[in-house]
Amino acid sequence: MQDQFGRTIEYLRLSVTDRCNLRCLYCMPDEGIESIGHQRILSYEEMTRVAAAAVRLGVRKIRVTGGEPLVRRGLVDFIRALAELPGSPEIALTTNGLLLAEYADPLKEAGLARVNVSLDTLSEERFSRLTRRGGLQQVLDGLDAAMQAGLTPIKINMVPIQGVNDDEIGDFARLTLQRHCDIRFVEFMPVRSDLGYSAEQRVNEADILEALQQVAPLLPVRHNHLDGPARMYRYAGGKGQVGVITAVSRHFCGDCNRLRLTADGRLRPCLMSDDEINLLKVLRDGNPGDEELEKILLNAARSKPSGHQLGSGAAPLRHRTMKDIGG
Ligand code: SAM
Repeated sequence: MQDQFGRTIEYLRLSVTDRCNLRCLYCMPDEGIESIGHQRILSYEEMTRVAAAAVRLGVRKIRVTGGEPLVRRGLVDFIRALAELPGSPEIALTTNGLLLAEYADPLKEAGLARVNVSLDTLSEERFSRLTRRGGLQQVLDGLDAAMQAGLTPIKINMVPIQGVNDDEIGDFARLTLQRHCDIRFVEFMPVRSDLGYSAEQRVNEADILEALQQVAPLLPVRHNHLDGPARMYRYAGGKGQVGVITAVSRHFCGDCNRLRLTADGRLRPCLMSDDEINLLKVLRDGNPGDEELEKILLNAARSKPSGHQLGSGAAPLRHRTMKDIGG
């Protein structure tokens, strides 16, 4: 699948639910979230059909995300169905890790290759405040379980926010000295301003790198295809790596190889654009054949914009938060 700017689209991100067992301050309001009704969420069968079409068109990697994907019942069997698709795409999962201790082994057995765990603080008290729920120890147990199950390399994604957790960049980085895991610092993206977090609270790449250099000198690492958009480094003698995902200050749209499917069946050619294709309607009302489904995916790929405009102060997403899209 090629877009009109010559990019090859080979990565599908599937959000399986908008529900989450945490209420992270910058991602989700605490109260009054209207979850999408079950009827308006794609069934696993529908998602598998879309994924199969995408794989026939050249998608090689599928990431399952949410909301929190592990709160949707039947996820392990869904992962198995994806892993068994002809073409054997690589299946990865993004999770907050709360339920990982329970599911790491069955997920591995079902064919999951790797997990990314989102974790923004190593302090129990801060975790409770930031997630409005708590459960840091459960996440740490989940990380251990994922490691033992062989869901590696494990990547921890941390979003530093000024005045909230930016003082922990060094603590996270130090984990890579002892543990075989990679820590990726993700620049905060302006999504919906009604959540009370503004672009000014973003910690930019330069400041993240400065904090990382304070731990020890950073050694650059040659880019590996598993790194995705992250620029990776390591410390001498360290077991894991650290990296920065500069989604805003130095965007990587020129290398974007993704399509996204939301839990309510909207195909999004770009994370940061509200242009969507209503695939749920097509699937439910149109009874499309495989060829038609492929044509819709090809058109979505062709309609990818050349890049987002966030760095130039463009308005953030109006209709969606990350929990709708899955990051
Ligand atoms: N529940 C899963 C998890 O926690 O990884 C998957 C969904 S969650 C929405 C995916 C990622 O989006 C998390 O790592 C979260 O930190 C990130 N995220 C949410 N809002 C963000 C924002 N405004 N900027 C950058 N990352 C954001």
